[in-house]
Amino acid sequence: MSIAANKAVSIDYTLTNDAGEVIDSSAGGAPLVYLQGAGNIIPGLEKALEGKDVGDELIVAIEPEEAYGEYSAELVSTLSRSMFEGVDELEVGMQFHASAPDGQMQIVTIRDLDGDDVTVDGNHPLAGQRLNFKVKVISIRDASQEEMAHGHVHGEGGHHH
Ligand SMILES: [Zn+2]
Repeated sequence: MSIAANKAVSIDYTLTNDAGEVIDSSAGGAPLVYLQGAGNIIPGLEKALEGKDVGDELIVAIEPEEAYGEYSAELVSTLSRSMFEGVDELEVGMQFHASAPDGQMQIVTIRDLDGDDVTVDGNHPLAGQRLNFKVKVISIRDASQEEMAHGHVHGEGGHHH
């Protein structure tokens, strides 16, 4: 069985940036389980895995447009401290959920604090970065009707609900 749309796939992976630093890895933990074709993982990785078989190993570099997007200066803005009412102490690096102009929820990170000004950045932390994945395919199975309807994998390594 090869990886194709509506297959539940588990992979071991290590993600490094161009400097060779490990950003994320399944090593020492459970494999990542996802539903192929459902956008559970970044588009570039999904494309690279299409057609692969159990035991296949691949090394792939994914450009930002196929990963978390280009870094957008438009997503950086300066807000007043009063916008953060109820937060005891603001610190650089803190993350908040905010609603973007298009209504989508996004995570913003505080980049700078200067008096009453709070500079926040709505870019994904990995925006603008090329991502280097080393992946091994561990298992592939047909997704259930319910998994396909939900757009994610259930059970071990997946959603429990
Ligand atoms: Zn579900």
